[in-house]
Amino acid sequence: MITANYIKNNYIRSLPTAFCPGCGNGQILNAIARAIDELKIPKNEIVAVSGIGCSAWITSPYLKVDSLHTTHGRPIAFATGIKVANPKLKVLVVSGDGDCTAIGGNHLIHAARSNVGITVIMVNNGIYAMTGGQVAPTTEHNYKTVTTPYGNPSFAFNASEIVKAAGASYVARWTTWHLPNLIKSIKKALNKKGFSFIEVLSPCPTYEGRVLGMDHIEMLHWYREKFSTNAEGFYKIGEFVDIEKPELSEEIEKIVREAMK
Ligand code: SF4
Repeated sequence: MITANYIKNNYIRSLPTAFCPGCGNGQILNAIARAIDELKIPKNEIVAVSGIGCSAWITSPYLKVDSLHTTHGRPIAFATGIKVANPKLKVLVVSGDGDCTAIGGNHLIHAARSNVGITVIMVNNGIYAMTGGQVAPTTEHNYKTVTTPYGNPSFAFNASEIVKAAGASYVARWTTWHLPNLIKSIKKALNKKGFSFIEVLSPCPTYEGRVLGMDHIEMLHWYREKFSTNAEGFYKIGEFVDIEKPELSEEIEKIVREAMK
């Protein structure tokens, strides 16, 4: 049986945690480590890339694999470079919803369109957490944040639907309540040839919970009750896309071989 100590000793760097008590980031780190272990991926065959935000710390510094901690919104661009330079590597991006859908939004759409063989785990807490809980592109209509105390007048991106429409090979959405499903999806995504995307709804009790009037336990119960495979729109969880299609670095290699003839 894989114990928590085994995961900790083999996959997690022993450093003081940067995460607040009850933050979902620890569970996502746990899920990633378990998926890598279950797939038996050698640590020198996987690279983790993150941008800026609380969730960027999941892989850098905590996950014990080679990692790049890049600039705000750009982890997908760095990851694409790594994959094209060395297609044998598994390249994992962990990016917050602000990082991934605001400043990095175009990278996300075009990575899905080009079907580059990287895995993006988008940690969605519906706000900019690291900078104090401001409204984000993923904040739902009418939700209160520190910068929208009377409710968000705008509307949220449905990131999974956007990535699906852009042409990704694998798309799924879970919450940190649905840990076994999340681990299964990460395993599938890491083995997928083309672009794979997993949106994970994750509690930020410090900023989101405080404004919504919930602690971390209540937030998890909220996830369990509100998000289901039978729900509609943003509240629907599950696998939305699982297809095979040509992958970008393979297509580039074909062109290089043709040009070398
Ligand atoms: S601010 Fe929110 S997202 Fe950031 S570490 Fe704390 S609980 Fe987690």
